[in-house]
Amino acid sequence: MIPFSFTRATDPAAALHLSAGGAGKYLGGGTNLVDLMRETIERPAKLIDVTALSDTIEETAGGGLLIGGAARNTAIAEHRLIRSRFPVLSRAIVAGASPQIRNMATAAGNILQRTRCAYFYDNEGSRCNKREPHQGCDALEGFNRYHAILGASSSCVATHPSDMCVALAALGAVVHLQDSDAERTIPLIEFHQLPGDRPDIESVTRPGELITAIEIPPLPMAVNSTYRKVRDRASYAFALVSVAAAIEIKAGVVREVRIALGGVAHKPWRAAKAEAALRGKPAIRASFAAAAEAELADAEPLTHNAFKVELAKRTIAAVLADLSGDAA
Ligand code: SF4
Repeated sequence: MIPFSFTRATDPAAALHLSAGGAGKYLGGGTNLVDLMRETIERPAKLIDVTALSDTIEETAGGGLLIGGAARNTAIAEHRLIRSRFPVLSRAIVAGASPQIRNMATAAGNILQRTRCAYFYDNEGSRCNKREPHQGCDALEGFNRYHAILGASSSCVATHPSDMCVALAALGAVVHLQDSDAERTIPLIEFHQLPGDRPDIESVTRPGELITAIEIPPLPMAVNSTYRKVRDRASYAFALVSVAAAIEIKAGVVREVRIALGGVAHKPWRAAKAEAALRGKPAIRASFAAAAEAELADAEPLTHNAFKVELAKRTIAAVLADLSGDAA
């Protein structure tokens, strides 16, 4: 065991002070960070427990929500307003992990969780550019069934593991951040980064910056939203492909649509091409299939995950058909 100090922060100012610009690591439910510490992939000298910070879920003007960074995943999934206005978020969270883990995991920690690429965790025997920049990537020529088909690089083909973030990407959520100098907001779809040649840099956070809240803007069409996760077993498994979607149809035509994908990229993948292809089109299966084709046109599968391309297309089309009342 590598020694570390543990301090509990009671407010954001105390957490920022203890962090001293990134010298410490914030600890939420510990459902990922503690695993990483056990494997000595993360070696913080100082842990700052931030679970006493805001865990409230408040309604904002116009029907949006502000979720405190320390809100537990279970509390978010079960919240009355989230279940009724943003069912895609509730379903995405329930699709993730186990009840025990969801009871512990926090909203901020969920956003910051790291990939579950097996080579990343194999600290002793595998090369990994995310763990050690410029070391190499054993997933490229190894077992890459679970890896990315969109937005990857020759440095890293890992996927982001979160289900919650896929729903937040579709909903246009915004991350609230605070450091000792200022507060700022970042759209969730800009928060995580594609790997490029520095896969060890996973988000736009600055050293010591704290996630204080996640804001979901008003989106009335989200009452007609859902999340579908395709995985190797029925529970406690990461997504091969997942789809978060919301759609608004008027007189048989798609007026607005939101689609995000999980299990396919280094970050929650907002399917902007599919959305653009669908707006103004008849809400029929042929349109949904064409939109899915447009989104996956640039997919670059690896040796073991070519099946994900077709799986993603079919899942997108099936989810949209379900939300449209199984349109013809
Ligand atoms: Fe590391 Fe990324 Fe390669 Fe996995 S895919 S071994 S996380 S560099």
